[in-house]
Amino acid sequence: MARQLESAAHLRAHDYRWLVKRWRALAKRAGWPLRKFATEDGFPVYALASPARDGPRLYLSAGIHGDEPAATEALITWCEKRLPALRKCEVLIFPCLNPWGLQHNNRNDAHGRDLNRGYHRSDVPVIEAQKRLLRGRVFDAAVMLHEDFDARGVYLYEIPGARPLWGEKLLAAAARHLPGEPRGRVEGRKCRRGLIRTRVRPETLPEHPEAFFLRFGHTKRSLTFETPSEFSLTARVRAHVAFLDEVLRLAKG
Ligand SMILES: [Zn+2]
Repeated sequence: MARQLESAAHLRAHDYRWLVKRWRALAKRAGWPLRKFATEDGFPVYALASPARDGPRLYLSAGIHGDEPAATEALITWCEKRLPALRKCEVLIFPCLNPWGLQHNNRNDAHGRDLNRGYHRSDVPVIEAQKRLLRGRVFDAAVMLHEDFDARGVYLYEIPGARPLWGEKLLAAAARHLPGEPRGRVEGRKCRRGLIRTRVRPETLPEHPEAFFLRFGHTKRSLTFETPSEFSLTARVRAHVAFLDEVLRLAKG
């Protein structure tokens, strides 16, 4: 029965209204406001924020690329499962930053823009609205969930900052469900057993992804997790969930 329910959930992985319905139910359970902070191409874009807490401060986001459904599916699935633990954290969650893309199974937004290359710009309304929400906020870790059609296993971009680094442990947790990325180079960067530790300075890159914006303004831990799109959705969702569990475990210290 559990497996059947899970499959039904996966069939609707591109149904944004249904995704929002689940987030609404979760927000109600948590007693936290699900706030519409932007409207993009006719779709409301939401953020879920817990009250301030002494526990770990986490930024969690998914769905900036609409053709990566395991990311959005896993984030809601994980939050539904782990709400009691999340109540002890201070979280700011972006369930789906590109609803039009999710609904249309498209990486980009309705204008053909890759939102994850737009954080240096000031003319993308949804990003500007998100930046306003983030003003003055600091997180112990920022987690961005993604998928990759070229990937052959799970991998992680970890922009070095706070020590100890978490990359190896996070990948080990995810590797219980999917193999690690075997390629030695990914998107032109060195990848060791699925780990890409990029030493970057924001001024050296012309186009800024969400991970940069977070790392250089709001956190010392920027973690971009990727699952291989060609594997089963169930396994991809499980890998994301295991990854998030390990983030939570490490963040709690
Ligand atoms: Zn992506």
